[in-house]
Amino acid sequence: AAGACLLAARRAATARVSWALLAAGSAAWSLGGLLDACHQLPLSRTMPFPSWACLGALLMPLCAVAGLLRLPGLARGSVQRVRLLLDGLVVASALLVLLWLTPAADAMLAASGLVGQLLAVVMPALDVVAVSIAVVVVDRMRGRPGSQAVTTAVAVGIICTSEAVYVAIAAAGAYTIGGPTDLSWCAGFALLTVAALRAARHPEPVSVPEPDAGSAVESLRLLPLLPVALAAVALVASGRTSQGLDAVLTGCLVLLGGSLSVRQYLLHGENAALHRSLEATVEARTAQLRTAHERERERARTDELTGLGNRAALLSGIAAALAGDGPVAVVLLDLDGFKAVNDGLGHEHGDNVLVAAAQHLRAVVRDGGLARLGGDEFACVLTGLDSPEDAVQVAERLVAVLRRPLTIDGREVVLGASAGVAVRHDGAGCTPHDLLREADTAMYAAKRAGGSGVRVFDPPMQAAVLERVAVESDLHVAVREGQVELHYQPVQDLRTGRVVGVEALARWDRPGVGPVAPDVFIPAGERTGLIVPLERHLLDLACRQLAAWQRDKPSLRCGVNLSPRHLREPDVVEAVLGIVDRHGLERSSVIAEVTEGLFFSDEGRVGDVLQRLSDAGITLALDDFGTGWSSLSRLTRHPFRVVKVDRSFLAGLVDARTPPPQLLAALAVARELQLDVVAEGVETQEQLDALAACGCDFAQGYHVARPGPAALVTDRVLDRVPVPVPTALRGLSPR
Ligand code: C2E
Ligand code: CA
Ligand code: CA
Repeated sequence: AAGACLLAARRAATARVSWALLAAGSAAWSLGGLLDACHQLPLSRTMPFPSWACLGALLMPLCAVAGLLRLPGLARGSVQRVRLLLDGLVVASALLVLLWLTPAADAMLAASGLVGQLLAVVMPALDVVAVSIAVVVVDRMRGRPGSQAVTTAVAVGIICTSEAVYVAIAAAGAYTIGGPTDLSWCAGFALLTVAALRAARHPEPVSVPEPDAGSAVESLRLLPLLPVALAAVALVASGRTSQGLDAVLTGCLVLLGGSLSVRQYLLHGENAALHRSLEATVEARTAQLRTAHERERERARTDELTGLGNRAALLSGIAAALAGDGPVAVVLLDLDGFKAVNDGLGHEHGDNVLVAAAQHLRAVVRDGGLARLGGDEFACVLTGLDSPEDAVQVAERLVAVLRRPLTIDGREVVLGASAGVAVRHDGAGCTPHDLLREADTAMYAAKRAGGSGVRVFDPPMQAAVLERVAVESDLHVAVREGQVELHYQPVQDLRTGRVVGVEALARWDRPGVGPVAPDVFIPAGERTGLIVPLERHLLDLACRQLAAWQRDKPSLRCGVNLSPRHLREPDVVEAVLGIVDRHGLERSSVIAEVTEGLFFSDEGRVGDVLQRLSDAGITLALDDFGTGWSSLSRLTRHPFRVVKVDRSFLAGLVDARTPPPQLLAALAVARELQLDVVAEGVETQEQLDALAACGCDFAQGYHVARPGPAALVTDRVLDRVPVPVPTALRGLSPR
């Protein structure tokens, strides 16, 4: 065991001193034992008592106590270690009192001489102290069985118990070799050897768990008090108190009282320190909590992406402004064309655009009043205005900075913004929500006016908003009940003068209101998504009518308008083909008219839909050419067969000898691409003549025929009633 402890002292990562002490104790004990054995075995003599061998027996418990107390994971700091020692001493003195009351005490005092008697008392006393410390250690390490400290303490406990029992037996002269103490000695040292070898095998420091404060306090309270109570009861029961105490008992009691008081004193100090540290911890945690709370509150009022305020921050800003003196204005900004960037370049770049836009805005208005309301909407609250015009000026400056190019990922993106302004001269009778809604209404009006502008809220705007909402809700009913119908406008072939097709145009007679222009209810359908069921219903009507007309005129074709919103529906191709096929129509006799607005975002996906429609046989027409981008590349990139030039192209077309250059250019390109050209909005005979002279293929307009219900246009469609034809064709039979 001594060798193993020495090995552990040299190799182990922790508790080297412990192992050295245990090695010294074991070595001393062994030397004493060897001395003893030399006397008893070869010489067959009993060892004299006292002898030098007693020194080993004395050193072992002393070293063991010191070694145990220095084991890792047992105590934090020397105060705790001292308290552990005092706990051991309390237990030991109580045990000694108990021991002293047994008959073994008399036997111990039977030794001759003062030194002998002293040793006979001190030796087992030290052993009892060591055993007590071992018990305290095991108790302290409760819940961690198998740890180094526990194994070591158990070993020490066994060795020192054997020793104490041996001394008691030997003092009574009853010791014979091979008794039970010899066996338990062997067991104790074997266990110590195992513990030491295990420690020696861990060159890395084993992580030493901090003693758990709760259980430590618990064990300290219970363990020493139990033996003390036992000793007190035994002492009273023995009747020794009345006889007057002897020196040993008095010593034990002094040791007990002293240890207890010092222990309590230390415990008190420790408790006070614990309390202080607890208080400090609580204070620190409270502070942490407070900052976290504040940060959370700040976060709840901040737009994460741009770092500006959010809607909540803006609303409370408006409320504060309304509570103050003087006029208050709210400016609401919405980026124009942001959706296209977001869809086209991806959301990440969309985010970058928003961050860049926020930066531009910061240059005009100080940070505090600015907010992002979600999406591409920004707003700010303005106070300290001299007049409402100041607010408009600020709004114009904001719109102007947003018109500057933004550099996103090396690309220049140019957006614009529409702004709405709402002003109040004071805060009376107005909530932040009112003001924000008014600014929103004004912004919407600015958007509808073409964007990149500023509008100030006025009451009629509110009426317009309400009207818009009313149209949207009535349209729900209209679609469900099939109130929307179709009118048809004939299309004439300018080379023959014959009607070769019709365009189906939606008509809604709103109950109690009267006809609503498609320019009003089609956008309402797009905003609400109602356009999808509506156009499928209308396509069905158109196909049924076309099939009926085709029985008399198989070559007749029909144009139907498909909204961008509808074309972005995932199942649009299947739906269109399903309806067309249901009526047994030649697919190419249905002309899907789409506008350039379709390509505003995500040209790739939309192009794919067009390609699939075209591959399936549907004829595609680019509608309103000349009003949007008039991009010729789009004509080549997508499978259009027809281009419908807007009636604005006909402005100034009165004389075939001086046609407007843009019309000539469009006709030249169309011819190059082998596209059919339909001129829309032909209102006069001159225009019809000039178009025919320029080589335009088809004409559509009030002059040829007004749109009307199928019953009213059937005669013209089926050539039973002639339509006006180019002068050059007059006299030729249309047939
Ligand atoms: P569009 O597709 O360009 O339809 C032609 C428009 O020009 C029709 O107006 C027609 O009545 C009008 N028009 C025809 N000839 C003349 C003329 O000589 N002079 C003038 N000034 N106008 C003429 P409408 O019916 O009011 O339709 C307006 C727009 O509404 C249509 O323009 C089309 O874009 C849209 N629309 C109509 N029905 C539908 C539909 O079912 N779906 C979709 N998405 N849009 C539709
Ligand atoms: Ca059209
Ligand atoms: Ca058109």
